[in-house]
Amino acid sequence: MPVNKTTYRELNESLRLKRITLVAVSKTKPVEDILELYNMGHPDFGENYVQELAGKQPQLPEDIRWHYIGHLQSNKVKYIAAFVHLIHGVDSLKLLKEINKQGAKYNRKISCLLQMHIAKEETKFGLDEQELHQMLAELHESDEMEFVAVCGLMGMASFTENSTQVREEFRNLKKIFDDVKEKFFYHDDKFSVLSMGMSGDYAVAVEEGSTMVRIGSLIFGERNYAK
Ligand SMILES: *Cc1c(COP(=O)(O)O)cnc(C)c1O
Repeated sequence: MPVNKTTYRELNESLRLKRITLVAVSKTKPVEDILELYNMGHPDFGENYVQELAGKQPQLPEDIRWHYIGHLQSNKVKYIAAFVHLIHGVDSLKLLKEINKQGAKYNRKISCLLQMHIAKEETKFGLDEQELHQMLAELHESDEMEFVAVCGLMGMASFTENSTQVREEFRNLKKIFDDVKEKFFYHDDKFSVLSMGMSGDYAVAVEEGSTMVRIGSLIFGERNYAK
């Protein structure tokens, strides 16, 4: 399926005016599609499998900003630590410590978002509010995290047609973001990213204060996992 250039241009322009970062989610898509968008001037791409990302990255321009948006296992950080631009799905101190360790190896500070569990659905991933506060308190205590920068939060709303529910979940995430920014990052300008919104719900996410949307199928077409 070809890249949907018209949709991309419109989307990119309207988000640019609102200073919202568009991460083009290229998982399952070939490097040719990524290159096509890159050649239109697009810098930010998102992947959610370590192996796939580590395989694509060397085949593509070095200045692409790679976002890792999937669930990351501690033992796989080493495969992306040398080049990843932002890790969206950090949900434990253990993982953050491993990212710090790998960052030290390459002498680069790795930017991370903490993933919140905001959907009503049962999923294994993401922190609740209490866990987030606990993690940030522990982080505040430890001074050994030189090579990670916590830049904000990420979350996924329920997969539902009920836009009222989706809106409530995004609104809740924005509130949590504002709370922890005030409590833990008052003097830290880096804590500024709120990654929420996908193809089906980005408009609502933007209305509720998203600063970064992760959009795949609208731009690249439906994914075919069977291939
Ligand atoms: C796949 C994925 C997206 C993009 O999904 P679309 O519905 O294709 O826009 C966004 N965020 C995460 C975490 C994903 O895994």
